Amino acid sequence: MTEARKKNIKIISELEFSAGFCKGEIISITGTNGKTTTTSLCAHVFNECGLKTYLAGNIRPAFSEVVLDVMENEYVALETSSFQLDHTYDFKPNIAAILNITPDHLDRYENNIQNYIDSKLRVFKNQDKKDFLILNLDDKLTPKEISNKKVNIFYFSLNHEVKNGAYISGKEIIYKYNGKREFSCLISDVSLRGEHNYANAMAVIIMAMIYKLNSEKIISALRSFPGVEHRLEFVREINGVQYINDSKATNVDSVWYALRSFEQPIFLILGGKDKGNDYNQIKDLVAAKVKKIFAIGSSSENVYNFFHKIVKVEMKMSMDDCVSAANKEARENEIVLLSPACASFDMFENYEHRGRVFKEAVNNL
Ligand code: ADP
Repeated sequence: MTEARKKNIKIISELEFSAGFCKGEIISITGTNGKTTTTSLCAHVFNECGLKTYLAGNIRPAFSEVVLDVMENEYVALETSSFQLDHTYDFKPNIAAILNITPDHLDRYENNIQNYIDSKLRVFKNQDKKDFLILNLDDKLTPKEISNKKVNIFYFSLNHEVKNGAYISGKEIIYKYNGKREFSCLISDVSLRGEHNYANAMAVIIMAMIYKLNSEKIISALRSFPGVEHRLEFVREINGVQYINDSKATNVDSVWYALRSFEQPIFLILGGKDKGNDYNQIKDLVAAKVKKIFAIGSSSENVYNFFHKIVKVEMKMSMDDCVSAANKEARENEIVLLSPACASFDMFENYEHRGRVFKEAVNNL
């Protein structure tokens, strides 16, 4: 890249390159957290409602691997990272969604949050009046007014009623267009748990309503979505104890959402390769919800030092040790949750490997 820059050769991303060949409709989903979940849910709902929809992008397969298969009247749910957006110029999705923006990857953006935000905002810069942009009204860093005045904007919110978009009211998710209610379902129709997932589901409901998909089919698809592996994934219930694999929770923010997703007391498996975690964000939640922490990996001492005055903490050498200890101690109606807040490379190949080792230990009980 440096060589190309020196020679003034234009650099474009794989996303920009592939989009040029796409005959179908592109639904581009970006954000700091929730991209994989939302993109997978979008493809599931669209396919269940009868629209042939490919799942591609950051999630794999790459857009370039599938783009030539996509015909007119077909769709691509495209997980789009800010890295991919960095070198786009003409990229123009039919629907763009920015799920949220929280500080991340700042090393790549010269530690300037505005550079990171600007990168995400590239997703809609070429959109016009036939296109749609979906924004999170609750998110602090996402602008509510944008420079592109042509595009049709829809919002989703956990806290506020919106005129165009989806929001939560009591036990319902409601979708309105021009202030008129056009769709509603129960929050409990969403198979995924946790407020963050209701937000992800609302983004997908807006996408489905933009294409005027059948309400009953949308609801049935929200119910049947199996979830994505390693993201609050239900593994097994033994004697009333549920085992949950959230190995993808590699930062403290994700653990905050995971802990908020359960009412029951939690045995939490925490630790791994620490990126300088500040656990203050989850201190109160841990005090309120966690019965015991099993600390693993190279950061287990940090975990112990931070939490041992608030909650019981036991340091463990392996995932097997954590799972068998949790199995001995957890009682009916309690949760055993792997949500490590850390990278996995100290003990595992990657977060998928860590999740699989956890599941194997649980399935061997
Ligand atoms: P991404 O592809 O953006 O990394 P994932 O869907 O893989 O997102 O989820 C990554 C982690 O973030 C998981 O631990 C998940 O529980 C959590 N998460 C999912 N959706 C959201 C959201 N909307 N806001 C915050 N955290 C989320």
